Amino acid sequence: MQEKNVRFIAISDNEDSEKGISDMLMFRSLFNEFYAKDCSKKQRAIKQNQAKNGVRSNGSIPYGYIVDPQNRNHLLPDPETKDNVKKIFEMYVLGERVSNIIQYLFNNQVLKPLALRFQRNKNPGFEKHMEEPYTWNGEMIYDMVSKQEYIGNTVTNKSHRLSYKCKKKVRHNAEDMYVFYGTHEPLVDEKTFKLAQKRLSSRHRSCKSDIIDMYSNLIFCGDCGSKMYCQKNTKETIAYTCGKYRNSRNRLVEICSTHFIRQVILNELILEDINSVLKSVQNNRQQFIENALKSAENRQLSVSASEKKAYDKAKKRKSDFLNWTKSLKSFTRTIVFKDTN
Ligand SMILES: [Zn+2]
Repeated sequence: MQEKNVRFIAISDNEDSEKGISDMLMFRSLFNEFYAKDCSKKQRAIKQNQAKNGVRSNGSIPYGYIVDPQNRNHLLPDPETKDNVKKIFEMYVLGERVSNIIQYLFNNQVLKPLALRFQRNKNPGFEKHMEEPYTWNGEMIYDMVSKQEYIGNTVTNKSHRLSYKCKKKVRHNAEDMYVFYGTHEPLVDEKTFKLAQKRLSSRHRSCKSDIIDMYSNLIFCGDCGSKMYCQKNTKETIAYTCGKYRNSRNRLVEICSTHFIRQVILNELILEDINSVLKSVQNNRQQFIENALKSAENRQLSVSASEKKAYDKAKKRKSDFLNWTKSLKSFTRTIVFKDTN
């Protein structure tokens, strides 16, 4: 913190980094850590138990439903939004393009799920979703049409957090989830849901593992600088498109443009380039060797500088750690001394 010029003040603990941090602070934060870890462990066990018994524990309610005021674990169709769910499924099953579904929702001023949640509950931090409240995106549609909740089932144990310190969620495989059938009124029939799953399974996903992406992490968009991603279209053509464009294409405002380039064309261009380099090597061998040696030398110099920096950093960490263990030893000695008295 000192390095970054940050002053740390804890009023209840009587700490102020400007007056010097006391050794006790480290132990206090260590014990607080133990407590937080223990609480998280207990909470996880409770949630696991709830999931096994079909209790939805994360509190999120699927769009189109509301919580039954008589029973918090029971869902009721939301009179205001249930027809939107039906319409989205209907359009999706009829083969309507996802961008057309998004346009339909926008034209009819249908609030997207998080904007609706903010409008109803005024959750702090959700204001940002009101900036473009009618702009749905493709993921919202795909997420909706894949949810078993719409045929009346409850699915629990869908994911877990990596750790109590990290918000990142890991989604479980279907076989690890618990499914409870017919727990509430369905919004779509089984046949429609099955058709939607069939379309979802044939959904085009870019760069499946059967494609060898030899330019992975190597090509960038000339306009916006974002990575170019590999994809295979229905004619089995492998091509690259701008990542920024790809993420924004289902929104109403598109960022950048596709910059579509087929892999075969890219191969030809690169081969042409290699050939021209080879030709220049043949014509001027000595000059090429000198240039190559010079650039290798420059690279070596920059590597050594960064290694030296890493070494200094590690050395400082080591000395910090030794100081810390020293104060830990003296602290335990004091405790032992006090105990024996
Ligand atoms: Zn771009």
